[in-house]
Amino acid sequence: MQRRHFLTLLVGSAIASQAGWPGIGHAQTSSGQQATTAGPMTWRNWSGSQSSNPRYRLAPRSVNELLDILTDPAHQHASIRPVGSGHSFSPLVPTNDVLVSLARLNGVLDHDDEQCRARIATGTLLGQLGQPLEAINQALFNMPDIDQQSLGGLLATATHGTGAELMSLSGYIEGLTLVTAQGDVLECSRDQNPDIFQAARVGLGSLGFVTDVTLQNRRPYRLKKTTEWLPLEDILNNADARVKAHRNYEFFYIPFSGMGFTSTHDITDEPVSETDAIDQNDGARDLQQARDYLSWSPRLRRLILGGYMRTLSTEVKVAPSWQNYTSPRNVRFNEMEYHLSRDNWKAALREVIDTIETLFPEVFFPIEVRFVKADDVWLSPFYQRDSVSIAVHRFFEEGHTPLFEAVEPILKRYGGRPHWGKLNTLTGADFEALYPKWQAFSEVREALDPNGRFLNPYLARLFNQPTSTG
Ligand SMILES: Cc1cc2nc3c(=O)[nH]c(=O)nc-3n(C[C@H](O)[C@H](O)[C@H](O)COP(=O)(O)OP(=O)(O)OC[C@H]3O[C@@H](n4cnc5c(N)ncnc54)[C@H](O)[C@@H]3O)c2cc1C
Repeated sequence: MQRRHFLTLLVGSAIASQAGWPGIGHAQTSSGQQATTAGPMTWRNWSGSQSSNPRYRLAPRSVNELLDILTDPAHQHASIRPVGSGHSFSPLVPTNDVLVSLARLNGVLDHDDEQCRARIATGTLLGQLGQPLEAINQALFNMPDIDQQSLGGLLATATHGTGAELMSLSGYIEGLTLVTAQGDVLECSRDQNPDIFQAARVGLGSLGFVTDVTLQNRRPYRLKKTTEWLPLEDILNNADARVKAHRNYEFFYIPFSGMGFTSTHDITDEPVSETDAIDQNDGARDLQQARDYLSWSPRLRRLILGGYMRTLSTEVKVAPSWQNYTSPRNVRFNEMEYHLSRDNWKAALREVIDTIETLFPEVFFPIEVRFVKADDVWLSPFYQRDSVSIAVHRFFEEGHTPLFEAVEPILKRYGGRPHWGKLNTLTGADFEALYPKWQAFSEVREALDPNGRFLNPYLARLFNQPTSTG
């Protein structure tokens, strides 16, 4: 019998024995997405929570064409926003003026074998990079959960994977080319335009277009990924040791189950192989079904979910690094993620779990916990701080606001810095208090773009400056 059919059977027998009890069902399904009037120009992000109706959607084929867009008199007073593949949950991208994708600027442009570095066009999707890098005897140090983001987008928001000794991907940028509001093309590195370099490594698309980046890579490697189901207390008691013992370590806690799973990656010479892996999308649907039928009894839900998870065996997958970090995410959600110091994350996580399990029986998505090494990038949430990332999710068709409003104050109270691409309610003043280099970044931004051409309403509020269109 397949694993998910086993859970369905367990849930089914529980329902049969409790016929007549109400479940949450799908009654609260409502999304902003449906309320949005669809037009030919409507842009939406991956989860559907952000949208806008740009007057122009442009995709230049070269840096010269990008310069033409920036100097076109028709766009002189318009707000211009770079867009990657629209995977940010926060309102970084939306504009009703000019939306510009660099998707047609892609591929590995150049490389330095001795230093193991590659210059890559930022329209490249992460998932398009593995093979070309392997062909030049290089590989990325780390990758996030999915590989559908553009390089420009993921670096602009300090996208990260997990690993106590591994930085966010922005930490591996050694050089970049920035096209500014004035139409200047600036080469930036630690030696050349160093302040602009530090600002543009995580620039939120507010400084101009990063058209290519030079990444510090390493030689190709094979990873052994091991996924193991464990009680929460075991996970928490052994987390510090496991983080140290494995190159990459993360865990997911399944609300209302007392159980979670840990995922580790270690470099190996073992042959490529795979055990029968659970499809994560099936997993999310199973958890939703268990929620729908069992939320009336947290005890029974815990018994069934926890009992089922205890039957799950360890999965192992050995594959080239670039094939073993990510998996498709077909069940859509909205997400909030904060990065905390390594000192106090367990207390914060326990508060988040208590809050969810006391107040939000409708939640079924796992809580994800990852570890990221400090870097020196001005607006990186990992700036000078080894961090632990705690992320909560809600199914995209169900309102996320009440959950996020309850969880955010906890993560803020513990000194967390939010992921730039994920939902949060912080203001410019909040960021100024959290980021020692906020002022330095703001000065670079204002010097490069005094008229706020690259600001949308969200960024204009953060930087306290009107947009180009007022
Ligand atoms: C299913 C899913 C899984 C995810 N998993 C992870 C994860 O594991 N780890 C993690 O850290 N994050 C994760 N994220 C968040 C995601 O990596 C970031 O939000 C990332 O920024 C999305 O990249 P994008 O190409 O879609 O950029 P977009 O969302 O389109 O844009 C993001 C920002 O980049 C700017 N930008 C885009 N291109 C350029 C450019 N060429 N020059 C200058 N600025 C530019 C935009 O203006 C915007 O400010 C996930 C998101 C989703 C939906």
